[in-house]
Amino acid sequence: MDHICKFIEEYLESKASKVEVIFDEDIWMLKQSTFAIDQDVRVGEADYIGELLVSSAVKISFCPFCGKRLQLLS
Ligand SMILES: [Zn+2]
Repeated sequence: MDHICKFIEEYLESKASKVEVIFDEDIWMLKQSTFAIDQDVRVGEADYIGELLVSSAVKISFCPFCGKRLQLLS
């Protein structure tokens, strides 16, 4: 039951980043992942294009993009 938000794409810094509002283990989280692009492979920071470089998540109660309150299962 992840929140599919039409406003997220406007906030993406580059196509190599992915931002999701996900529901996992009873909490809502804003998750951001950054993937390697050809330049990262060229300078040796990644083995292949699309390799996951960084992933982080923070607990949220509202969608930071559209402001919707995210419902908890009860
Ligand atoms: Zn939203």
